[in-house]
Amino acid sequence: MTDSLRDAATFPVWHETAQVDWQPEAAPSAAEVDVAIVGGGLSGLWTAFYLSEAEPRTRIAVVEARRIGFGASGRNGGWCSGFFPLLPSELADRFGRDAALAAYRESFASIDEVQRVVESEAIECQFHRGGTIQSASTTVQASRLQEVVRRQHHLGMTRDDLRWLSPVEVREHLRLAETYGAIFSPHCATVNPHALVTGLARVLRARRVHLWEDTVVHEIRDGMVEHDHGHVRAALVVQATEGYSNGFHQTKRRVVPLYSLMVATEPLSAAVVSDLGWTNRVTFNDGGNMVIYAQLTADNRIAFGGRGAPYHFASRVRDSFDLDTSTHRRITESIARHFPAVADASITHRWGGPLGVPRDWIPTMTLNRSARYARLGGYTGDGVAATNLFARMLVDTWHQRDTPLTRLPFINHHSPLWEPEPFRFLGINALLKLSESIDSHEARHGASPRIRQRIFDALL
Ligand SMILES: Cc1cc2nc3c(=O)[nH]c(=O)nc-3n(C[C@H](O)[C@H](O)[C@H](O)COP(=O)(O)OP(=O)(O)OC[C@H]3O[C@@H](n4cnc5c(N)ncnc54)[C@H](O)[C@@H]3O)c2cc1C
Repeated sequence: MTDSLRDAATFPVWHETAQVDWQPEAAPSAAEVDVAIVGGGLSGLWTAFYLSEAEPRTRIAVVEARRIGFGASGRNGGWCSGFFPLLPSELADRFGRDAALAAYRESFASIDEVQRVVESEAIECQFHRGGTIQSASTTVQASRLQEVVRRQHHLGMTRDDLRWLSPVEVREHLRLAETYGAIFSPHCATVNPHALVTGLARVLRARRVHLWEDTVVHEIRDGMVEHDHGHVRAALVVQATEGYSNGFHQTKRRVVPLYSLMVATEPLSAAVVSDLGWTNRVTFNDGGNMVIYAQLTADNRIAFGGRGAPYHFASRVRDSFDLDTSTHRRITESIARHFPAVADASITHRWGGPLGVPRDWIPTMTLNRSARYARLGGYTGDGVAATNLFARMLVDTWHQRDTPLTRLPFINHHSPLWEPEPFRFLGINALLKLSESIDSHEARHGASPRIRQRIFDALL
């Protein structure tokens, strides 16, 4: 399997079935609109979608440095998950029980909302709701995950939100090489993310929203977007640049780009899929500290991702960072470890991209009317459904509606700044190494290395 990595295509597998099939139009040298959105990913597109739905005459422009969907939105793992990076109990520690439960209720409902739009707008992105499984690959993970379930139930989540499955029950969803049980939740669907992005873009083009591509924005200031061909003036400028935000003065040290990398196998035969028992295309990850994630695509490939690629000094983002052979090899070995039945399958694609990670792992939507500025993002690895929720939150707030969304605790939440360099570089890369070493200690010794785990928990 790892041998085939050498010949794998170095673009997201999603592009095989969903392409940007229109010619790019760059921004004119001077323009005026009601709302200018910087960043043509899901945050920007959903914002344009709900703004144009609320008031069809609003003049909207999305300004994108590359092509629509170039960023994380067009290359992610395709989990449309109702879970935030922080669990309900962790959000409750921060904002209180009611606010945490309300946030989760709205987040779970976002999956229905994505499905509604996909169906009503005929966006063919292979939306499928199969739920999600977080499997315990070791006994240590099993106790940790069971405790997670217990805490969420204690908070007020029900068995319909998440529940513990025995190893035998896990096999009804998926046959893994080794499992000590798993958390199952129905609140997760899968999509082809690039098809979702291009489908939304098509809807917006039909609504006469400007999609200005190949236009790099240098500065956002007082309702003005300065870009490499000129400027756009707007009553509101929305920044939706996620992992690429460090270059803007408003978001310097607010969000760091952490790379997540992915591979995809060739389409598996019906016999192999049946061997895997992957009947309802549930998404899969495990209980390790180092995040991995997988989906079985509509054409029966395993699209498998993992974090752990190095953080680059001064929050740099480069196309070349998308490919890191040792991380891609580690991800490929993970597939073979969890699914020995596919150990001989070829890897046909490998790619990666930056996530936007705030210091406290809490995403935010801020709106400053007097500065004519709004921002949404900081979803870490859980942005597919959250971009939809945060865009609706932004539009409701902008239109001064009193809705359950405008009362969520993410509004005008300010995460602490990340440390200045070189401490950020040293700290983040040390944490990445630490989580890897805790996982391998747990796998070898069947117990958590207490001191390392304490340092890890304290630093996060
Ligand atoms: C490999 C990978 C796997 C992931 N897997 C999942 C998953 O399975 N499920 C999930 O929920 N989330 C996942 N995520 C996270 C999720 O994809 C993101 O949270 C989400 O797509 C963020 O959307 P966005 O629109 O805010 O940002 P992006 O999609 O990153 O869009 C930002 C856009 O801004 C543009 N831009 C940047 N700077 C400028 C500038 N100066 N001028 C103009 N434009 C600019 C960029 O080109 C980019 O297109 C994953 C991310 C990655 C990288």
